[in-house]
Amino acid sequence: MLIKRTDHYKVTNNFNIHEFYSKSLDAPFEHEFNGNLIDVCQYIREQLSMPIVVTSTFRTVKGNALVGGSKSSYHLKGLAVDITAKDINKLINFVYENMSLLNERFSICGFGFYRWGVHLDVGCDSVYIGPSDKFHFWIKNSQINIDEQDGVSSSRSFKFGFVFFLFFLFLYILRKFRYGKV
Ligand SMILES: [Zn+2]
Repeated sequence: MLIKRTDHYKVTNNFNIHEFYSKSLDAPFEHEFNGNLIDVCQYIREQLSMPIVVTSTFRTVKGNALVGGSKSSYHLKGLAVDITAKDINKLINFVYENMSLLNERFSICGFGFYRWGVHLDVGCDSVYIGPSDKFHFWIKNSQINIDEQDGVSSSRSFKFGFVFFLFFLFLYILRKFRYGKV
């Protein structure tokens, strides 16, 4: 849908359209923004019964560079939204646990989990999505408990064990070498 700078109307029960107008300083008078992203914000807001703050929607090239966004960011096309809330963990965990549902209902294909909140996009042509997968996600500095983090810790303990193994192997060889001399 097209959003104008001067638009100020209630677009869903809890959101004014202006909350989805670009926050880039050089934003054009009007820009496109994907309506599913507005609907998903309303849905999350209702499910969590807590206010959701929209921090980024459509970005201009300059605005995107200023916030360190990727050059191929879906924000540049109005196909992504960043949201946060007072209880960030609650927001992050809800979205993480409902990715399939949010994909089915609102066609969300990209989920980014950050310390500041969540990124959602409808970039369903993404190169990251394999032929059988419907969405992809990434986790950056987020305090989420997921299998991948277990994977990291188990690989850490494996490395730790391997270093111990090398240490005892070294002692063994050293002893053999010494006895050999004697
Ligand atoms: Zn984003």
